[in-house]
Formats: sequence, C-alpha cells, structure tokens
Amino acid sequence: MKHCFDLIVLGAGSGGLAAAKRAASYGAKVAIVEGDLVGGTCVIRGCVPKKLLVYGSHFWSSLANASGFGIEINKFKKDSGVLLENVRQEVNRLNRLHIDLLEKANVQLIRGWGKFSSPNSIVVTNQENKIFEISAHKILIAVGGRPIRPSIDGAAIGFVSDDLFLQKVLPKKFIVIGGGFIACEISCILSALGVSVTQLVRGNCLLRGFDKEVCLMLQNDMQSKGIDIKFDQDLVSLIKQKDDMILTNLNGITFKSNAVLFATGRKPFLEGLELGKSGIKIVENKIKVDIKNKTNVDNIYAVGDVTDRVNLTPVAIEEGRVFADNCFGNKNRIVDYNFIPKAVFSQPEISFVGETEEEAILNYGEENIDIYRSKFRPMSEMIQKSDSKCFLKLIVHKHSQKIIGCHMLGEHASEIIQMAAISIKMGAKKIDFDETMALHPTIAEEFVTMM
Ligand code: NDP
Repeated sequence: MKHCFDLIVLGAGSGGLAAAKRAASYGAKVAIVEGDLVGGTCVIRGCVPKKLLVYGSHFWSSLANASGFGIEINKFKKDSGVLLENVRQEVNRLNRLHIDLLEKANVQLIRGWGKFSSPNSIVVTNQENKIFEISAHKILIAVGGRPIRPSIDGAAIGFVSDDLFLQKVLPKKFIVIGGGFIACEISCILSALGVSVTQLVRGNCLLRGFDKEVCLMLQNDMQSKGIDIKFDQDLVSLIKQKDDMILTNLNGITFKSNAVLFATGRKPFLEGLELGKSGIKIVENKIKVDIKNKTNVDNIYAVGDVTDRVNLTPVAIEEGRVFADNCFGNKNRIVDYNFIPKAVFSQPEISFVGETEEEAILNYGEENIDIYRSKFRPMSEMIQKSDSKCFLKLIVHKHSQKIIGCHMLGEHASEIIQMAAISIKMGAKKIDFDETMALHPTIAEEFVTMM
C-alpha cells in the first residue's frame, strides 16, 4: 500500500499537537485530524478557560474586599456573561494561534472526524460531510477523554464541565456533584462569582488521595466562603420541574437548584474510532500502551488521556514529544513520571509534589518520617481581616533526610510548588532547604525556615 503520510495524528489536543510538530521537525510528512477547534480539552474546555475564570472570579472577590485598601465602590455592575464571552473569545484566539503554529511547523491540518479503516488508514468525514481516506506508516491516537455522567435517572439533563464554558450567563443556584479536581475548582469559581453553590460528594472528604490535612483545610476554607459541602451523598435521580432541577439522594432527601453539574470523572474518548478495524485491544476501557507509547499493533501509538495514565496536560505533551523523538528522531527516550507536581486551582489553591503523609506512613512507617508544618494568616489577608490561612508541609524521610513530600495551601501555591518540584526531583534534603536564604516577606520563605 502506498502511504500518503509518515504519520497521522488523531486529535489536535496537547499530546497530538506536540507529537505532530516534533515529528515534522525531523522532516516527517505529518497530518493531524481534528473535528473540533484546535487545542484539545486543555485549551478549549479545560485548563485555559478554567484558569481565566479563576482570574475573573479573583477579581470579583477582590473588589468585594477592596474597602480596606482604600477603594470604596458604592455601585458596580457584575456581569458573568461578559466574563464568559471574553473567555470564549480568548479560546478562539488560541485555536487560531495553534492553527498558525501547525502551518509554520509544516503539519497538515485535516478538519474532520477520523476513524480506522485498517491499521494504516483513516477514513475522515469532514465538516462538509465529505468522506475520504488517508494512510500513513504510523498512526498516533491522541483523542483525549470526555466527562462521565453517573448512572442515575435523569443524568443526561445535568451539565458536565464542558457545558459551563458555553453558558451565556450563570444561574443563581448551582449544585456541583463530585469531590475531585474539577468539582472543587468549579465550586470555588462559581461561588466567587456570586453563585450560591452546594457541592454533593459521595465520599467523606474532598480530593480523595490528596494529603488529608491539606484537604480538610481547603474544605474549611470553602465552607467559610459559603459553599455548602455535603458528604456521603448517594444520588439516585435528577428531574426538571419548571425552572428547577431536583436531585434526590438514596434517603429520599431532595436538593433544588437552577443547574446541576456532574464533575464525576473522565474517561478515554474511544467512541467512533472503529478501533476494531485497527486491531487495537481495549483494556479496561482505555488504550493500553508500553513505555514507548506503543499499542499492541506495531505501527499504532497512543498518548495522553486516551491511555488513562496521568491525565495532565504537561504529561500528554511530554508523551507526545517522546513518541516523536523515538519514532522520527532516532532517540531512545521514556517519560519520567516521578515527582510530577500537581495543583488544584481551588480558592485557595492547593498543590503538592511527592508523597502525601498517608502514603509516606504506609511506605516507610510513621517512625521513619518527619513532618514539618507551618500554618498562618498571610499578610495579604491582614487588612481584609479575613480568616483565610495558608499551610505548608514538608515530609522528610528520617534516615536519608530527603524531602519526599511538599504540600501547600494558599495563594500562588501552584507557582511555588513548580519551583520546589525541581529541587525535590533532584533529591534535595531538608538541610538544603534550611541552608537556602529566605526571601522576605513571602509565603514560600516558610519552606526554608521550618523547624
Ligand atoms: P476526579 O477523579 O478528580 O474526581 C471525580 C470525583 O467524582 C470524585 O470525587 C469521585 O468520588 C466522584 N464520583 C465518581 N463517580 C461518581 C458517581 N457515580 N457519583 C458521585 N460521585 C462520583 O475527576 P475530575 O472529573 O474532577 O477530573 C478528571 C481528571 O482531570 C483529574 O483526575 C485530573 O487528572 C484532570 N484535571 C486536572 C486538573 C488540574 O491539574 N488542576 C483540573 C481538572 C482536571 P470518589 O472519590 O468517591 O471516587
């Protein structure tokens, strides 16, 4: 068979774009197939619009607390519709930017939805409903994931995170279901934008798997800002009655709101790919790959959320680049999944790198770790007289004195952990932190002054 391309990438999200451009930089003839805007979940309906809403909601709450800083605003108009529209415009700008970058990189963008017709060929249905076939020596699946709705009656009438960014204006009362990344971030954004928020969580804590002490502090802060968090909620149905959405739990208790949003996890987006024709085996609803991102079919690879490993943008980008380096750049690389820093853009933010206290106790025993903590009201909150605290925590392996976990709750937590992650990945010991001069007055200086 004569192949049109060296590489076809399915999906122009973070992983697919990175792989396509890197492969093309080695001289490969590359096509990327995308039916939606270019940029993927992160740019279109994830990290980017979310962070813009975080900035917007910070602005709203700062204005509400401005009087202590000498700004008296008697009357001002707040319009969530303007914010949402400006976020959409920025997303559209980024979509165009990514299209330009593909062109500059010499990657052919094929607008349409692709599905396998054989292990080497893809049938594309484009936006004008024209159908054509393309083929390549190698195919990379980078189609990402989609939100999951729980299997309760009426779930289809609730929103998922994608829908939030399509709203013209925000309703007055929202119920957010879930206790994970997306649920916590969206609850905080909506609450800061003046929406009355109830968060229903099926377990007994927020952010299961994160450091418990940090999560409890986040929970207290969110509750003190008016978010009504209810735990142990097993939901059974959702119905619409006139303008109200009514959720019912297993005990027959009902919750009423104008909108319900399910933030109950995501899954690989496998629908419509006709993977049967490619020979790829699906394992537990995801595409299984080896450490070189190769599937069970020799010429087909997969990266990013469709493989359901570590579902984060920078990880997908690195997986895409490593794939391209190995297959087209004659390199022999693997992705290093150790010490990946993580943040939840809740308000306040939380972030960490390394192990939680619970994991460290399990791995080394309580007697073999030292914990250092610092909890205080940051200077930025003093004049506002708010009770918000920040919290920093280091987990140290007693014998080696290496820092094995670094956690933070508070302003700029994500920015601070990004930097801490470098030293911790390099094997920093407690004494390295102690011997680093503090930068005053900052929150992060506490990391180098902990006794
Ligand atoms: P998470 O896995 O973080 O959280 C899912 C939440 O939904 C959990 O609280 C889970 O409860 C709950 N849940 C699952 N099924 C049900 C159900 N049937 N009924 C009620 N509750 C349910 O997923 P998210 O959707 O929040 O985020 C998906 C992924 O996207 C994240 O894991 C992360 O990789 C990525 N992401 C990263 C962000 C960042 O880096 N800042 C931001 C947003 C997303 P339980 O704990 O009991 O399982």
